[in-house]
Amino acid sequence: MQDFFQACGVSFKIWVMPKTNNKLDWTSLSGNEKKKLLKTLPEKLRAHPYPFIHENTRLMVADLWSDFASIYFDILTTSTEVTEELSNSLFTKFCKWIDDFVQVGIRGREGYGKGDITPYMHIVAYHLPYLLSFHSGIKPFTGQGLEKVNDDLKNLYFKRCNKMFAASQTLRARFRKSLTRKYRPVKRVYTKKSKTYWANLKRKKSVL
Ligand SMILES: [Zn+2]
Repeated sequence: MQDFFQACGVSFKIWVMPKTNNKLDWTSLSGNEKKKLLKTLPEKLRAHPYPFIHENTRLMVADLWSDFASIYFDILTTSTEVTEELSNSLFTKFCKWIDDFVQVGIRGREGYGKGDITPYMHIVAYHLPYLLSFHSGIKPFTGQGLEKVNDDLKNLYFKRCNKMFAASQTLRARFRKSLTRKYRPVKRVYTKKSKTYWANLKRKKSVL
């Protein structure tokens, strides 16, 4: 199984935790590795039977993975405006995904029951399509800007030797940063006037 995951291009290991009753632990994947797995795993799963995967649900699970990948990559990462029509079709698509998920459980697989549907899945199906159309896309919901602020403040905090009043000091630093924002240098536009300038210059030099 380890080899199977590694063949998908991610470093993955399973091991027995020491001092426990043979409990297993495994590598948790980073964001990029998860994306990689989403792209490669469905095909690998479809290719042929594996000894560690139940054959009667193998293709269903592969479909679950690729459907999820298409939900994730095609829809959630686009910044195009979400119309009401699209939002409705998303809703049916997500609901179908949850139905398919439960179907795998009906065939006897553990972890695919109705009770295994997480609040996240519920949110994706029943709230996300509406929110996407209301706020036109997923962009306003990313935490990237906030993460950047967090990076800045962490930097600032750890560079200080005086770590007193951390909260008020970081807030002040943020405020000072916002004051200077409008004085940042403006990029000048560059228009190339003579395309042969450098070529000619070279020639002149060689003459000298
Ligand atoms: Zn709800």
